[in-house]
Amino acid sequence: MSTYPNTSNYIGGKAGTGQGPELPVVDPATGTVIWTFRCDDQLTVDAALDAAQDAFPEWSGATPAERSGILLRLAAELEAVGEELAQTETAQTGKPIRLSREFDVPGSVDNVAFFAGAARHLEGKAAGEYSADHTSVIRRESLGVVGSIAPWNYPLQMAVWKVLPAIAAGNTIVLKPAENTPLTTLMLAEACERAGVPAGVVNIVNGAGPDTGQTLVTSRRIAMTSFTGSTAVGRRIAELAAANGTRLHLELGGKAPFVVYDDADLDAAIRGAVAASLINTGQDCTAATRAYVHRSVFDEFVSGVAELMRRVRLGSPLDPDTDQGPLVSFRQRDRVAAMVDRAIGDGARAVTGGRAPDGALASGAYYEPTLLVDADQRSEIVQEETFGPVLVALPFESDSEAIRLANDVPFGLAASAWTRDVYRAQEAARLLEAGTVWINDHIPIISEMPHGGMKASGYGKDMSAYSFEEYTQVKHVMSDLTGRAAKPWHTTIYGDK
Ligand code: NAP
Ligand code: MG
Repeated sequence: MSTYPNTSNYIGGKAGTGQGPELPVVDPATGTVIWTFRCDDQLTVDAALDAAQDAFPEWSGATPAERSGILLRLAAELEAVGEELAQTETAQTGKPIRLSREFDVPGSVDNVAFFAGAARHLEGKAAGEYSADHTSVIRRESLGVVGSIAPWNYPLQMAVWKVLPAIAAGNTIVLKPAENTPLTTLMLAEACERAGVPAGVVNIVNGAGPDTGQTLVTSRRIAMTSFTGSTAVGRRIAELAAANGTRLHLELGGKAPFVVYDDADLDAAIRGAVAASLINTGQDCTAATRAYVHRSVFDEFVSGVAELMRRVRLGSPLDPDTDQGPLVSFRQRDRVAAMVDRAIGDGARAVTGGRAPDGALASGAYYEPTLLVDADQRSEIVQEETFGPVLVALPFESDSEAIRLANDVPFGLAASAWTRDVYRAQEAARLLEAGTVWINDHIPIISEMPHGGMKASGYGKDMSAYSFEEYTQVKHVMSDLTGRAAKPWHTTIYGDK
């Protein structure tokens, strides 16, 4: 019962079709093409930028209450088509329907509702007489047109994370979703229209990153680029933005450590590690990827994780009994498989998994839940983002070694520490280099709290009031209080004249 939009872009409040080359959207569970669209070229991207520029004066001038009212209706419109969104999200990504229903869709609706409220809390910090002769006022202003690029792992949520803080703060936006997952973003645009978001405030273009995406982010008309995706593409975008001096917000890759101390609740750590490494088939930038486990509990942890992983049910993503679907594409599955093969070639051992399933699932982009041991800390599988259902377990001897190894990768998006000792927990929270640190859990996020990286995972925050730091600019307005033509500071120019 998936419903697909009959449009491939959405510009100035109108559904339309691109003029560029045709691209397919493939259901990775079966390999069948479920939708095709024509990419948006330079002319279409320009039209989207025109629409966003035209809409900006009125939208940025609307009162917070006006913007908030529209965004509350958007939350309701999304909720009303929640099941269609879940079905479509699952069809284009292969993620299990339970995940789409219980996480992607309600998480997106909640994020919209949060920003509907937050739109009314945008304020400057101070008005006061910092100089005896002036009153200073801080104005927090919107930027203009935001150019935004999103990835395929959580297409609807990523679109919402990009669009909502931007428009709640009074900006307008042109967003390009990932080329293999455009459908729910177009459905978001349709919901915007039903909710009464003014034409041109939210515009969606579709196409390949190096074409449509690059055309968008190199435009001199955008005030900011907001990008979520891989670190490699993020750095390319930073280069392109530098040429125009465009403001940047980068949410990039991750390689989250999962630190299990000898006093941890081991059952909780084992359950937590399997759930946190396999969520969304491991295609989650915060997924647990490296379990550092104290030597004294290492064997028990490894056998517990392997046993739980073997019980995970692979199957059709539409089946509510399925725990893990295919990866998003055959290309991504093959990337993950090749990385695991290289790790094994380098001396790692698969305790479970390490292969694509055969039989009925062989026609989809499936890969078995995989637990690796005996990998070297310096090896690719420990240092680089895998983005698949793969967890590497490594032993440690001391607390300081655990923290050192956990921090010894380029990334810094998320991390967790598992211990019953409050002092160890606080030390881990302080020392782990990551934008989010969980204690005795790993994965939960919430609209009120910021999400974003350190180190090679990027900078700037999604979600929460912190995201307004990215999407607004602060203006200082200083007003003279004296009414005098000769100001005291003029002596620097006029001497005693
Ligand atoms: P990706 O390959 O970096 O692509 C991300 C987006 O950038 C896509 O829309 C892509 O278009 C576009 N793109 C590619 N080259 C471009 C260029 N030269 N100019 C402009 N746009 C360009 O990432 P992905 O494979 O879609 O997503 C997985 C990655 O996203 C992982 O690294 C993951 O960690 C990261 N991620 C990070 C967060 C976070 O919050 N930090 C959240 C989710 C995902 P195409 O679709 O045509 O390739
Ligand atoms: Mg890509």
